[in-house]
Amino acid sequence: MINLNDKKILITGSSRGIGAEIAKKMALLGAEVTLNYANSRTRAEEVKNEIEAAGGTAHVVQADISDFDQAAELVKTAYAKMGGLNVLVNNAGITRDKLLLRMKEEDWDQVLNINLKGVFNCTKNAVRYLLKAENGKLINLSSVVGINGNAGQANYSAAKAGIVGFTKTMAKELASKGVCSNAIAPGFIDTEMTDELSENIKAGVIDQVPLARFGKAEEVADLAAFLASDNANYINGEVIKIDGGMGA
Ligand code: NAP
Repeated sequence: MINLNDKKILITGSSRGIGAEIAKKMALLGAEVTLNYANSRTRAEEVKNEIEAAGGTAHVVQADISDFDQAAELVKTAYAKMGGLNVLVNNAGITRDKLLLRMKEEDWDQVLNINLKGVFNCTKNAVRYLLKAENGKLINLSSVVGINGNAGQANYSAAKAGIVGFTKTMAKELASKGVCSNAIAPGFIDTEMTDELSENIKAGVIDQVPLARFGKAEEVADLAAFLASDNANYINGEVIKIDGGMGA
């Protein structure tokens, strides 16, 4: 049975979707969590209220993680509010899907700035705290698309592939102090991000998934909670797919 008692955890992009489920699950397992959002203040407050109604402790901090100074302030505030930081979950992400022929420079920049530079911004500011923590953990949300590529997602797949390289590098740089760095690579998970897909595309996706359904955010949260726990102290540098067998 895993528990996250005494863990202080910052989850970026946790006002909804996978990030919100990760925060709820981790809090339920005993962690004190800091939620982060860019725009959805009310949604983030709702997640905090839900956690507190279940007996947990949560804080909410607004920050656009693509901005280095805001990411620095986010990490500093989370550390101060929780009195420590054991685990950073780099979850915030967006899509701006288009075939390369139609992709604009701003589509590329926005996705790379939030999905990849945001991971650098938060990790760079959190690393000294993780190194100080006992059994510190870095958990980054990549995607199967970062491993296999996907038509219409050159920007997104490049960012998610970048996260794989970053995660494996951190696994080597931080291990001497016992910090483990792993990535989660979800397939298609039922959130607002995938709600945007047309019914045709959704049906096509399900055809490629041996389990013949989208994943649930709660299922990704279970994996993240395990990776954050002391039960995962010897898992380092892995990219774990959670995709119903799609990428097998
Ligand atoms: P989602 O439902 O669209 O939620 C995205 C979250 O990221 C929101 O909380 C959003 O906050 C936050 N966010 C966006 N831009 C931000 C910024 N600049 N600064 C801080 N927070 C920001 O997405 P999701 O489906 O849960 O995805 C979560 C992560 O899993 C992403 O990294 C995504 O790429 C990855 N992933 C998802 C799937 C999938 O099928 N859903 C598959 C593979 C990987 P606001 O509400 O305030 O904007």
